[in-house]
Amino acid sequence: MKIGVIAVQGAFIEHEKMLAELGISSFEIRKNSDLNRSFDGFIIPGGESTVQGKLLKELNLFDALKELIKNGLPVFGTCAGLILLAKTIENERHAYFCTMDITARRNAYGRQLGSFHTTGNFKGIGDIPMTFIRAPYIQSAAKEVEILATVDGKIVAAKQKNQLVTAFHPELDHDLGVHRYFADMIKKQPSL
Ligand code: GLN
Repeated sequence: MKIGVIAVQGAFIEHEKMLAELGISSFEIRKNSDLNRSFDGFIIPGGESTVQGKLLKELNLFDALKELIKNGLPVFGTCAGLILLAKTIENERHAYFCTMDITARRNAYGRQLGSFHTTGNFKGIGDIPMTFIRAPYIQSAAKEVEILATVDGKIVAAKQKNQLVTAFHPELDHDLGVHRYFADMIKKQPSL
């Protein structure tokens, strides 16, 4: 199994380390020709969704990635990655890939509680550490979306077919559960 990690901005190295710990090989996606490699899924890291969205378009990656997602390639978006996949961003005029039937709220925890750490239950994994950094949450989700975790009544992890999102940063904690969950999603893909 090979997983691409979008490496235009944000916390991509941390994801690569988690995958290495699981014995999964990864490579960085920085330019359009990187997509010529064969790979089984990709990760959109945390960072700044506006910057990532702009760079993905400038680097001629955006349309190709959107097509791959629509064709069923597994994708895991953390934090800014969640925002990029959302069909609607509640407090923004424009959304990005729009492939996941969720409404995301950017910087949803406000300035005072901008960053925090907690432990929460993730469906199918159990209790895991959750680190939030200027995080979004999912304001609402279509019925096709499976809710995997909530914190204080807000949806912070969800899955829709080939798409997995977390508002928190599993790559910043020492629990490999969510990355293993994504690898299991890939293994269940009919194409593998
Ligand atoms: N606040 C960032 C955004 O709106 C997301 C923060 C993160 O990825 N840690 O893109």
